[in-house]
Amino acid sequence: TPVIGVLALQGDVREHSAALAAAGASVVPVRRVGELAGVDALVLPGGESTTMSNLAVAFGLLEPLRERIAAGMPAYGSCAGMIMLADKILDGRDDQETIGGIDMIVRRNAFGRQNDSFEAPVDLAGVDGGPVHGVFIRAPWVESVGARAEVLARVGSGPAEGRVVAVRQGPLLATSFHPELTGDHRVHRLFVEMVRSR
Ligand code: GLN
Repeated sequence: TPVIGVLALQGDVREHSAALAAAGASVVPVRRVGELAGVDALVLPGGESTTMSNLAVAFGLLEPLRERIAAGMPAYGSCAGMIMLADKILDGRDDQETIGGIDMIVRRNAFGRQNDSFEAPVDLAGVDGGPVHGVFIRAPWVESVGARAEVLARVGSGPAEGRVVAVRQGPLLATSFHPELTGDHRVHRLFVEMVRSR
């Protein structure tokens, strides 16, 4: 059974932990550098990426996180977690740090005021059984991806039609939306499979 950490500085840690456990992982919270060493993979939860950035710096976790990711540790980020995995961000706070790892540019709070929060079905490559229910909460979108990153999903209709909302690069997975809030564990199962196949 893979041991998957959930970065527990801020955000919807409990929901990700429950979804990972349902998907067959052994789950531990990660707040300290020592706890990071004990996990096979890491989930970066939804929440507020500026706060997560602050706390990662304050806890001395930013460089250790970058090192683990660079060494090939699988990671999955939803929403604020997607922002944390982006090599570059737009509309971030001036001193906002990301861990990086995925060759993509992510725009924070991209969907704008009237769509600050919305729900929509999302067809996700690699997930069978029909679209997943996409819960978008002041969500980012992926402005562009580099050659090494693979687009898994785009918004299907509406003003943001075609915008990229899920990306994979090797062992790294990111979604603009929050599968951890839906009770549908297919995305977490996909991630657990990614971890198992390492
Ligand atoms: N808007 C948040 C941010 O910039 C992300 C929101 C979320 O994770 N639901 O970090």
